[in-house]
Amino acid sequence: MDDDLLPPEDNGDLQIAFIEASNERAHFVIKNSNLETANSLRRTMLAEIPTLAIDVVEVLDNTSVLADEFICHRLGLIPLSAKGIDELLYSRDCECDGYCELCSVVLTLQAKCESSDVMKVYARDLVITSSRGNQQLGNPVLTDPDRLGSCIVKLRRGQAIHMRCIAKKGIAKEHAKWAPTAAVGFEYDPGNRLRHLDYWYEEDPKKEWPVNEQHLNMDGVPPQEGEPFDYDAVPTRFFFDVETVGGMPPDEIVTKGISTLQEKLAAVIQELKGGDAGDNLDFGGAQSPTMNGMGYGGQDAGYTTPYGGGGPSATAYGGATSAYGGNPW
Ligand SMILES: [Zn+2]
Repeated sequence: MDDDLLPPEDNGDLQIAFIEASNERAHFVIKNSNLETANSLRRTMLAEIPTLAIDVVEVLDNTSVLADEFICHRLGLIPLSAKGIDELLYSRDCECDGYCELCSVVLTLQAKCESSDVMKVYARDLVITSSRGNQQLGNPVLTDPDRLGSCIVKLRRGQAIHMRCIAKKGIAKEHAKWAPTAAVGFEYDPGNRLRHLDYWYEEDPKKEWPVNEQHLNMDGVPPQEGEPFDYDAVPTRFFFDVETVGGMPPDEIVTKGISTLQEKLAAVIQELKGGDAGDNLDFGGAQSPTMNGMGYGGQDAGYTTPYGGGGPSATAYGGATSAYGGNPW
């Protein structure tokens, strides 16, 4: 039985067992936890682990059929390697004016089509043009067999694009492009013994809602027909299936999720003790963009860049008319 993955003795201590682990996925079960803690870990992994993503784009040339903003949006969503992200500063915490090598990685995308065939520009064509902490940080994630990455734009003869992309550190709470996970599967009580689920069905819920047999076997004895309902029962085993977008190995997402959660809890404890948590604790930047009531337009929320800023109509991506003019270095 699959339950063999977990140690046979159960003294009530927290136990974790991996069901499956690969470069893309971490499928594991946590035993003797509670729903609140397990769900907190899920939410932390989804939204609060720092990664790297393209945040500012200087459009130097774009004669493709796609608008600047369209391409910039696509660039932002390209997964980049987050190896060594801990050494990178948040741009808002950096003392530089805009961006520098301590808080960003610069990628350049330059392509021109000179043949009669349609040219496809892929994520692999993004070239790192700044120095960085290690040789992987900021590399586009290429997982397809041909190692091309996602297609960004197609060019016809004579069309060209030239863009300078500034990748910055951030969390998915601020923008989904910083999400380390493609998905986090989360399940408890696969047999619905606790009746937290009320299945909608047309004819037969058993046929229409297939049960994960593996999880069911690991969750103890499957519920029997006509079994009396236990009002005091609580879930104790939680099945996670973490899938990475490629920038960070799945096991690292799990360990970083745990450490981020610990930091947040430590801050709460510090606050309750009356200490000055804000000064003493490193939040790792895991703060909401709306923290202290400040949005993107706030004065010191740290999310403002010196690039946009002109007024309601100014775009952070700029273009020929933006404030991007010179080289800030
Ligand atoms: Zn900087």
